[in-house]
Amino acid sequence: MSTLEDYNYYGDARTHAAWARKPYTITQGPTTKGRVTVTFVDSMHELLCENGIDVPQEMELLADWQVCPICRGNGTVVDPRVDSSGLTQEDFDHMGLDFEESYKRGDYNITCPACSGRNVIPKVTFPEDVQKCVTEWENDEAEYRQQQLWELQMGC
Ligand SMILES: [Zn+2]
Repeated sequence: MSTLEDYNYYGDARTHAAWARKPYTITQGPTTKGRVTVTFVDSMHELLCENGIDVPQEMELLADWQVCPICRGNGTVVDPRVDSSGLTQEDFDHMGLDFEESYKRGDYNITCPACSGRNVIPKVTFPEDVQKCVTEWENDEAEYRQQQLWELQMGC
């Protein structure tokens, strides 16, 4: 891949979704609006404790299920290795008709990394102070992930 293609690949929302770590897991719940059991990962729970927020590691909370923004509810996405740089008609002409047909048929599709093919993602309603910590954890993680992907891109 050229540098520009690498840049597009590592900057692609699908790639980021595949690498993202989550501050919590949802261990049970219906696929429509309702209560879910949220289990904080250790580092998330530690952050809550550090901030003086005394909550159990496992909490029952309300969640909304929203259409996944990465796959727009399809459950699959085209592998970002194939088209994160954007494909033009010229690319299709260059790759040939077989490629175009396979591409349009979805042969290059992978299970959506954001929703794992469930089509929906949960939006959990946290108490305000917990949400603040969750946001902080997610921002730190996003920075770390950016760094990690940048290093990969540089071939470190
Ligand atoms: Zn999805």
